[in-house]
Amino acid sequence: MTQAETTPRTGKRVLLAKPRGYCAGVDRAVQTVEEALKLYGAPIYVRKQIVHNKHVVRTLEAQGAIFVEENEEVPEGATVIFSAHGVAPEVYEQAKARSLKAIDATCPLVTKVHQEAKRFAAEDYDILLIGHEGHEEVIGTAGEAPAHIQLVDGPDGVDKVTVRDPNKVVWLSQTTLSVDETLETVARLKSRLPLLQSPPSDDICYATSNRQHVVKEIAPECDVVIVVGSRNSSNSVRLVEVALDAGARAGYLVDFAHEIDDAWLTGAGTVGVTSGASVPDELVQDVLTHLAARGFTDVEEITTANERLTFSLPQELKRDMKAAAARA
Ligand code: SF4
Repeated sequence: MTQAETTPRTGKRVLLAKPRGYCAGVDRAVQTVEEALKLYGAPIYVRKQIVHNKHVVRTLEAQGAIFVEENEEVPEGATVIFSAHGVAPEVYEQAKARSLKAIDATCPLVTKVHQEAKRFAAEDYDILLIGHEGHEEVIGTAGEAPAHIQLVDGPDGVDKVTVRDPNKVVWLSQTTLSVDETLETVARLKSRLPLLQSPPSDDICYATSNRQHVVKEIAPECDVVIVVGSRNSSNSVRLVEVALDAGARAGYLVDFAHEIDDAWLTGAGTVGVTSGASVPDELVQDVLTHLAARGFTDVEEITTANERLTFSLPQELKRDMKAAAARA
């Protein structure tokens, strides 16, 4: 039975987006740290935030994970996990030089973009990587072929692009961008470079596009859309932008329910709720409880896709788990 069926109607309602929250890549990355802690014991070092979510990072820290910025902070010979966003090849080299046991939790959909970058660079293409400057995923992908890749940070970055041969140019993208903004960037690139090639398959991942799609559906009916997610989570920030573009009168990003300002809800009849791909659903449930206490008891879940994708754990971890099970 849904909350809507058990509580009286107040005229205030919540449209709850589905899909929302954890994607397959985040689920795998978090599980990788949890399983590594069980198998090798604490501490386990993790280079960068395993996924961009404050709550997830704090929870794993409490279990014995130590988050570092660079390999140099990891004691020689210790275990280090690389985050879901991916790393440049030099990071593996550094880990090797320090005799670290490296476990790679890069999302397979990010790895796919790395493979595309390597392949086009080997064929001597100029690669236009659409993404946000400074984002870990972009740094990792660009590191695969720095001499061939230039970053295009949205439609306004198009004019700065220079290529060696306009017949041999391809675009790739970060996995967590706004679908619409990326299409606009590509259209502008194509008007300057008509022979620009597209990636063999979409780089923006299924989770990013599904979460944006459902937000677009609910936003026109919403006075306010609340996105649960952290500020450094690209896909969460995009959800707020997509909601506003699609007609929500206001949109806010919060890490936790207590950050919701009552003033945002003043006069609101319909509140949309969703969450980024690195957000555990318990944080969304906290938001629903918070809203219910303010009269928003009528919750309708709007589903535009059902996601079933899962990824298996990194090979290096699975191998050690298997060996440990055989010894037990
Ligand atoms: S958002 Fe997409 S690319 Fe990023 S971890 Fe999730 S599935 Fe992978």
